[in-house]
Amino acid sequence: MFTHTCQICGDTFESASNRAKYCKYCRDKAQVMRNRAYKEKKLSGTAVKVGSEQICPYCNNTYTVVTGSQKCCKDCRKKQRNANSTPNPQYAKDNYETIRVYVPKGQREDIKAYAQSQGLSVNKLLITALEEYRKNHNKEK
Ligand SMILES: [Zn+2]
Ligand SMILES: [Zn+2]
Repeated sequence: MFTHTCQICGDTFESASNRAKYCKYCRDKAQVMRNRAYKEKKLSGTAVKVGSEQICPYCNNTYTVVTGSQKCCKDCRKKQRNANSTPNPQYAKDNYETIRVYVPKGQREDIKAYAQSQGLSVNKLLITALEEYRKNHNKEK
């Protein structure tokens, strides 16, 4: 048996190992502390530091981090927010009417993909298509 001084509580203790650092009471505690330190290190490694310079993944410009959860530059964040925001439902109700359009099963994704390839929303595509249809039919008269 080897006699050691515990690095946490300072008590002397005996151990079969010649490299023991902590008494058996503190050993568990030490493990907990190590785990916590590891977790904190891991967290700080992934989280961006406020005030640090980062490169925006969308536009590749550098930006300064203002909040810990920030993942892109201010401009791109604004753009994203606008893209995600749905129009005010009351405004839509006052200014628009809806027509429910049924399409053959399996074609919805095709139509969506086509609209996207034209840079239009499905809604805009249908309205544009309707305008063109009317124009073409007037010509034939
Ligand atoms: Zn101890
Ligand atoms: Zn950006």
